[in-house]
Amino acid sequence: MKRKALRRIPSVEQVVQAVGKSELPRPVIVRLVREHLSKLRRTAAVPDGEELFATIRETVTARERTRIQPVINGTGVILHTNLGRSILSGGAIERINAIASQYSNLELDLTTGHRGVRAHHLEECLAAVCSAESATLVNNCAAALMLILRRFIDAERNEVVISRGELVQIGGGFRIPEILEASGARLREVGTTNQTTGSDFKKAVGNRTALILKVHRSNFSMSGFVDSADTRELSLIARQARVPLVEDLGSGALFDTAKISGAAHEPTPSEAIRCGVDLVCFSGDKLSGGPQAGVIAGRRKWIAALKREPFFRAVRCDKLVLAAMEATVEAYLAGTAEKTIPTLALAVSSVESLRERGTALLSALKAPSIDSKLRESAAELGGGTLPGASIPSIALELHPKGTTAHAFVRALRLGRPPVIACLANGRVRIDLRTVLPHQDRDLIRAIEKVAAELRSN
Ligand SMILES: *Cc1c(COP(=O)(O)O)cnc(C)c1O
Repeated sequence: MKRKALRRIPSVEQVVQAVGKSELPRPVIVRLVREHLSKLRRTAAVPDGEELFATIRETVTARERTRIQPVINGTGVILHTNLGRSILSGGAIERINAIASQYSNLELDLTTGHRGVRAHHLEECLAAVCSAESATLVNNCAAALMLILRRFIDAERNEVVISRGELVQIGGGFRIPEILEASGARLREVGTTNQTTGSDFKKAVGNRTALILKVHRSNFSMSGFVDSADTRELSLIARQARVPLVEDLGSGALFDTAKISGAAHEPTPSEAIRCGVDLVCFSGDKLSGGPQAGVIAGRRKWIAALKREPFFRAVRCDKLVLAAMEATVEAYLAGTAEKTIPTLALAVSSVESLRERGTALLSALKAPSIDSKLRESAAELGGGTLPGASIPSIALELHPKGTTAHAFVRALRLGRPPVIACLANGRVRIDLRTVLPHQDRDLIRAIEKVAAELRSN
């Protein structure tokens, strides 16, 4: 580049000053500015001062938006992986607060004064809620599965027998075959995509078998000519071969999901264990409605063996997660889960109550430039749970005049707090099932603000 053009590039400090006030720490802004200026030095065209400042300000604003922050979920997807899956109960948050802000008895036995066992009470609660001999907790369900595989696989027995109908991918890149491979297991696929029987397993199980794995088809459903091996039958086969039967339940419903309108019954951990599964694992932050975690429940000797694995130390939970999970599981055991755990409460709240809130929202909304009305919609559990189940819901539908629904959705997302709305048939749709009642006022303000901005442009 010409020296003259180079001279037109302002100093880092000048640009940082021009950016002005920001939520970003100054060193982060300095890095952004340096990066931007060094890119300019490599290209031929140097924009004039104001243009340059404006571009950098935009970069800074975009970076500010990446700070983790609350959003209003208008998608109707209750367990939205992009939006943080489960919301914690008030009880869980209180417990996190108490444990985070003070010393705790995390590994101290208060009765003896000696070193105590981490998460002992929580493990007992988890075992109780799963009707299992024993249970433990790790960072997430993927880690739970990895730990189980590492424990049961060795040089002699390295085959994992699994149905071809269950070699699934769950969400962002979590593929069962890849997890198996990463653990050093050899995949022994049996049956076909739609049909796997007990005898398929029987034929495949041998002296190289480490375990039989069942994976819950949590994010899709199959219909038509479909059959899979019965859990009780698999359990017999596993027992005869003296290998464990492991089931990855994924979503981990600890209640009867048939109570959710439009949803079917999901197998619970206790049902799987009653059918003879030796170890189940499931996510803490899907249908259980707790923090990110992976629960493992089942036979005492095998849970104990898992906890002796060196790898267990690498995937153990942080005390804040233990605190939140303890409060969550205690709510199930106390019978208060449906009222206090947001994931469940959102799923079971009645259409009438949503309509009432919607009516109140509509009458409070003061935005003459948009036609707004309530309409029936379909919410879903999401997060790879209960595929195909659509939960009757109520949505706020906005038809902005003088701008497109697309622009409106974008402006809502860029607002404070961000509102995540959907586009449906050229309208803006905000499903009220996933909007928390205390967010109603913020939602109205957000819509009014966007309506006013887009009209004045
Ligand atoms: C979601 C899911 C997982 C992954 O759970 P994480 O807690 O996100 O690690 C594993 N298996 C199944 C069947 C799932 O649905």
